Amino acid sequence: MYGSDIKKYHHEDDENITCRDCGKIFEFPATEAAFFESKGYPAPIRCRECRPMARASRRKRQREQQELARQQQRSTFSDVLREHLSS
Ligand SMILES: [Zn+2]
Repeated sequence: MYGSDIKKYHHEDDENITCRDCGKIFEFPATEAAFFESKGYPAPIRCRECRPMARASRRKRQREQQELARQQQRSTFSDVLREHLSS
């Protein structure tokens, strides 16, 4: 009942989408929907206010993960080194 409905897109109607982050209902104009579809983008899940914040926090998370990976590599390396030195 749900999956089959995705394909039928009414460009003549503006859509109202509930923002995933703040729960606010925002308008997704038919013209924008047409643009998104032509680019192959999925419909937005966040309102205009939350979109830049989501992008920023995603970048921040990526940086944190990279830093974590670096730290793990470093600690693994020092563990190996310690083992090597103690044996
Ligand atoms: Zn929002």
